[in-house]
Amino acid sequence: MFFNKDIETIERSSLVKLQEERLKKALEAANATKFYSQRFKENNIDISKIKTIEHLRDLPFTTKNDLRLSYPDGMCAVPREKVVRMHASSGTTGKSTVIFYTKKDVSEWAAQVARGMYSAGMRSTDVFQNMMGYGLFTGGLGLHYGGELLGCMVIPTSTGNSPKQIELMQDFGSTIMHITPSYALHLGEVIRNEYKINPRDLPVKKAILGAEPYSEETKKKIEELWGVDAYNNYGLSEMNGPGVAFECTHKSGMHLAEDYYIAEIINPETCEPVPDGEFGELVLTHVNREAMPIIRYRTRDLTRFIPGTCGCGRTMRRLDRIKGRSDDMLIISGVNVFPSQIEGVIMGIPEVGNNYQIVVDRENNLDRLHVRVELYAKMFSGDVKELEKLKSVITNRLKSVIIVTPRIEFCEPGSLPASMGKAVRVIDHRKL
Ligand SMILES: [Zn+2]
Repeated sequence: MFFNKDIETIERSSLVKLQEERLKKALEAANATKFYSQRFKENNIDISKIKTIEHLRDLPFTTKNDLRLSYPDGMCAVPREKVVRMHASSGTTGKSTVIFYTKKDVSEWAAQVARGMYSAGMRSTDVFQNMMGYGLFTGGLGLHYGGELLGCMVIPTSTGNSPKQIELMQDFGSTIMHITPSYALHLGEVIRNEYKINPRDLPVKKAILGAEPYSEETKKKIEELWGVDAYNNYGLSEMNGPGVAFECTHKSGMHLAEDYYIAEIINPETCEPVPDGEFGELVLTHVNREAMPIIRYRTRDLTRFIPGTCGCGRTMRRLDRIKGRSDDMLIISGVNVFPSQIEGVIMGIPEVGNNYQIVVDRENNLDRLHVRVELYAKMFSGDVKELEKLKSVITNRLKSVIIVTPRIEFCEPGSLPASMGKAVRVIDHRKL
């Protein structure tokens, strides 16, 4: 049932005690960094007085911008020779944010991930095809180490190269795949349409999804297409990468690894804690990492704690599906719309290519939402009626999710602007 029963079923009071012991160490480590020693001094903070989780709320937040300004190593708490790995994520502006790991950090992360994968039903007999990007991005290596620790055979295929993915999947009998939701839909369609194989006939029985926002509908579509059981996994590079929270086989939220993180849910505007069970922004303090002890990190991800206990017996609290990011929300004709909701719909449509753009403007005092979608080149050589049909499918699907009726414009591949890092996805002319 459990990978590490003692910790997974720990009593609340013992967990809080463990978190507070680890918090003390994390604060001492933080105080050894250039960034936090200065910040604590500026705010007259005596870390020896921060002893409980309640006291933690007296400390200032850490933001992505703080990480950027600390580039390259202003937040690293250990000497360079103790660091065994770094990961980095690119931003739309400025320098990357860099995360360092000691040997212990890498093995703790692997244990955390292995535990999550086990809770989703993965076992040592599984063949794990890891189709997540390897490299500076944490998605690939994060679950790779967890899979090895579980004793699975790990196939590190990384992203793309669909023919190779399919060949390995068939020849080595992959039972579990780790994949982004959009690629899962795309690959499934390729297998069905180009290889004339029903993906449901392949040995894959579970999918671990992550690395991009997606809707419950997309998850169901993947389960239907592949005949698999799909699991959510939440993570962000600042907090290690994937495996921060993992869905168990009861599928009623993602258990947060609370022995690694102290979580708060706040109102993103007032920064005050929201009542238990209500949606707000997730704030995480990493208390189990030597190289990068990040205090009160504003994830910008909107979620809530699911009240009550899970039927699986794990005592770690469960996070709800991430609803969106607090800094991304658009208000269109009075309706809250998250770009992630739009992405979840359009990226689930196989004809849609890799880029899209959301444009909001105002006509005759009314808000208008335009969604520009790149289609694959082959779509433009067919029937105009097919395009009109596709347009109404996308319009209706979007309307059912976001309430607002969008105007869909089709674009040829490569026609929308792509930047060196992330593409600019949202343009709000009302603000210009
Ligand atoms: Zn559970």
